[in-house]
Amino acid sequence: MKLVFLGPPGAGKGTQADVLSKKFGILHISTGDILRQAVKDKTPTGLKAQEYMNKGELVPDEIVTKITTERIQKTDAKDNFILDGFPRTIAQADDLGAFLNNNRAKIDLVLYFETSDKVAIQRLTGRRVCKACGAIFHLKNMPPKKQGTCDKCGGVLYQRTDDTEETVKNRLVVYKKQTQSLIDYYKEKGILRTVSGDLDVNELFVVMVDLFKKEGLAV
Ligand code: AMP
Repeated sequence: MKLVFLGPPGAGKGTQADVLSKKFGILHISTGDILRQAVKDKTPTGLKAQEYMNKGELVPDEIVTKITTERIQKTDAKDNFILDGFPRTIAQADDLGAFLNNNRAKIDLVLYFETSDKVAIQRLTGRRVCKACGAIFHLKNMPPKKQGTCDKCGGVLYQRTDDTEETVKNRLVVYKKQTQSLIDYYKEKGILRTVSGDLDVNELFVVMVDLFKKEGLAV
């Protein structure tokens, strides 16, 4: 099945996509992760994207659409994928639709993670990531056993530069200005379903699996 996860930063899209990917083998494609890797590798795309990402602004459509369509052309994305963080603008959504149409494919469902600002801000500003293995922790919701150290590999935990309070607030403003309109866009196409991003990870996972069954999607 081909899914799009839509919702503000901090809605838990990446976390749920990870769980679905581990339990059911559905490919998780996060444009944020692809861009962060490009920044780390100092590729031309990464160098261009970095200035936008640090400010919490959107990276230009043509860059993000190119990396996403390249990724979904690979054979491992033929039958199943979750797009997490893409599309974020109407132009990206139009280009994705056209690309899939040309390849005789389509999005089965768009899941909108409806989330309060309070929960999103609390999740993002408390998030800590392992420098070595990428594992994600939270100062309150999922603290590491030893402060500042990854439980899984012993690596150093750090705060993403765009997870500081000021940048998080800007990311939410950008979401409302540029991404929220996709809710109506996909509602009109009849493929939008809403779940609560305020639920905790396990509760939301159960809700999602129920929804997939109800929609007749195989997981
Ligand atoms: P995320 O990890 O999804 O929160 O993305 C982190 C940052 O990557 C965003 O704040 C944007 O700067 C950039 N980014 C990720 N996906 C997109 C997208 N679809 N369009 C534009 N910028 C994006």
